[in-house]
Amino acid sequence: MADARHAGIGMTSARTRERLVLRLREQGIKDERVLDRVRNVPRHLFVDEALSSRAYEDTALPIGFGQTISQPYVVARMTEALLEGGELFNVLEVGTGCGYQTAVLSPLVARISSVERIKPLIDRARDRLKELGIKNVRLRYADGTVGWKTHAPYDAIVVTAAPLVVPQGLLAQLAPKGGRLIIPVGPDGAQELLRITRRDEHFLREKLGGVSFVPLVGGTA
Ligand code: SAH
Repeated sequence: MADARHAGIGMTSARTRERLVLRLREQGIKDERVLDRVRNVPRHLFVDEALSSRAYEDTALPIGFGQTISQPYVVARMTEALLEGGELFNVLEVGTGCGYQTAVLSPLVARISSVERIKPLIDRARDRLKELGIKNVRLRYADGTVGWKTHAPYDAIVVTAAPLVVPQGLLAQLAPKGGRLIIPVGPDGAQELLRITRRDEHFLREKLGGVSFVPLVGGTA
């Protein structure tokens, strides 16, 4: 039963997913490991059943509490940007949301710590990741603006909500030799995706293009 649900039918079937993969390829996603995850992670299980027929459209969708599941292209682009430059052992994600980005990334790195500030969302994400048999993720209900110090330093940090400026606490939790932060920064309507790579006390900034994320909000809800 679970297998049939994961495999999907009609608008959630393998054929529909393949169309999404093709579209992401056309838009420049090249990493086959990432495309494979887009193909295999059942995105329809991460949204409300009423929206499942739209789960393989390349668009963000509401997940309640004023939040969204990220657009597949953006999840793929961020994952690709994280993976460029070598193996990742210890990754922090800020903004678990429904857990889709977490699920896409999980088998491509050794360990993910993920933080979310809305309790019902992280509870649901926990159930879904368990249902999918994903075991290398630890989740925490907390404000991720300050990172998660217990498990730092991180080879990579991915932030899936946009602050106005890069939080200093996150930079401090990057591994000094090549740790990288993928983060959307800026006000609504004018956000830019950045990759910041740490070399000791130097932080190299690269711009990866315009994006649209919900805001990173301090504190918990
Ligand atoms: N990663 C999700 C996208 C989630 S949307 C996906 O794969 O689709 C962004 C999430 O960031 C929301 O759930 C929001 O509640 C959360 N968020 C915003 N500010 C936060 C903060 N300071 N700490 C942790 N999570 C935060």
